[in-house]
Amino acid sequence: MKGLKGKTALITGASSGIGQSIAVRLAQEGCNVVINYRSDPKGAQTTEEVAMQQACGQVEDCGVQSLLVQGDVSKEEDIVRMVNATIEKFGSLDILINNAGIQTEKPSHEVTADEFDRVINVNLRGAYLCAREAIKHFLSQNRPGTIINISSVHEIIPRPMYVSYSISKGGMENMTKTLALEYADRHIRVNAIAPGATVTPINNEWTDDPEKRAVVESHIPMGRAGTSEEMAAAVAFLASDEAAYITGQTLFIDGGLTLYADFREAWS
Ligand code: NAD
Repeated sequence: MKGLKGKTALITGASSGIGQSIAVRLAQEGCNVVINYRSDPKGAQTTEEVAMQQACGQVEDCGVQSLLVQGDVSKEEDIVRMVNATIEKFGSLDILINNAGIQTEKPSHEVTADEFDRVINVNLRGAYLCAREAIKHFLSQNRPGTIINISSVHEIIPRPMYVSYSISKGGMENMTKTLALEYADRHIRVNAIAPGATVTPINNEWTDDPEKRAVVESHIPMGRAGTSEEMAAAVAFLASDEAAYITGQTLFIDGGLTLYADFREAWS
């Protein structure tokens, strides 16, 4: 896609799932990829191997490079270190993908303050601090930059038992718009994607159980869960110059999940 070749992208939580597919896709598009992981170096190595294989094939030095960076996005010092490591190796950062995310399931009246904070600190505060460090860098080098937040259909669909997750993604929508507006005149674009049900490790509970999976998929107008590659394709588009005039938007990629599936049948 236009404008991606030679850019450098930092992807948080890229040792599995959607983040892994995004790293692979951006490398395929010619980006240097910085693969952040928290606690799964093996997963991150797999991401790197697949990304480099897809980008370069048998060619030894095809111009695409990668960097693995351990870091916990709920820790400010780790975020600063990650961004600095990126700039040290590649000279710049052009694309930030805020992908790291967690969720916990519990009745809302039983969630402890610590449990609530844990989810918000990763999904929302972490994403904001990563964005802040990226924007500081874009501004200091007076260069264009783009940020893509991996939100969720739950930024608009309430999700009982997952109150901190729902709040984090709702907040992410506002963060996307606020930062987009604040920096639009300085060539910084901020967008989000909102995946629907996607087959990744975060959903093992239903993806590994055919009966549960059938129930989940029965609510999706297109009749199937999405793939992380389908999410990565939209991220590549939003990061590219094909999307040069798009900012402050959330693109829903959900097989029609947000179209109120119950209205498929005419109600009398
Ligand atoms: P996943 O569990 O495979 O990926 C989440 C990644 O975040 C993991 O690699 C994990 O190690 C990393 N992570 C967690 N805490 C971290 C921290 N403190 N610091 C750094 N990394 C951390 O699941 P996924 O589905 O690929 O999730 C990726 C993103 O997509 C998440 O933000 C999630 O909310 C969002 N999403 C997923 C779905 C879905 O159905 N799979 C739907 C909507 C949104």
